[in-house]
Amino acid sequence: MRIISVLGGPGSGKGTQCGLLRTTFMCAHLSVGDVLRAEAAKPDSPYTSIIEDNIRNGRVGPKEITVGVLQSHIKEALDNGIQTFFLDGFPRKLDQAEYFEEIVGPIDLVIVFDCPEVMLTQRLLQRSRADDDTDNIKRRIETFKATTSHVVKKYSDMGKVVELKTDTEVEDIFIRLQQLLKEHDMELEPRN
Ligand code: UDP
Ligand code: MG
Repeated sequence: MRIISVLGGPGSGKGTQCGLLRTTFMCAHLSVGDVLRAEAAKPDSPYTSIIEDNIRNGRVGPKEITVGVLQSHIKEALDNGIQTFFLDGFPRKLDQAEYFEEIVGPIDLVIVFDCPEVMLTQRLLQRSRADDDTDNIKRRIETFKATTSHVVKKYSDMGKVVELKTDTEVEDIFIRLQQLLKEHDMELEPRN
């Protein structure tokens, strides 16, 4: 199993690029936000109100819920023969990172998408998701700078962090992302 985290401010292009990786190569794209939204939408989920409340407020929720849902998606993909996982927007906090590694396994590489803040806000306001209002966006950018930065530091000390500039066009970023993965011995098998 290979686990690659993709971090970066909201709107830095994580979802778009991981989506392209998943359709091009044999790998899974686990967007933690999407996975949580799907859990919240299940009629029998005990977590619906907690997750919805956190998302509405742009707060990072409890690690047990997040890691639990990620783990079940990973198990399912492993059963389907997938061995490479891109974690989009996870881990956001140090305690999540530690908990994930304890119950799932080590994160092999962390790719940090680097994009100027004005561009993040612009892109988010264009996509118009329910939680993409100006205040919530501001809060998520703050969380990234104040909290997720500790996660980046942890993996950087282990020599596992690479940065990718994502202030260009989707196609250009995707080309550079594939180069970066190759350079870090993360060869991907094409999907056919
Ligand atoms: N979230 C959470 N725990 C996580 C990651 C996200 O509770 O580990 C919540 C948080 O409230 C966040 C929201 O999910 O604001 C949306 O996350 P998403 O990754 O979709 O936002 P993006 O970074 O893609 O804009
Ligand atoms: Mg996203």
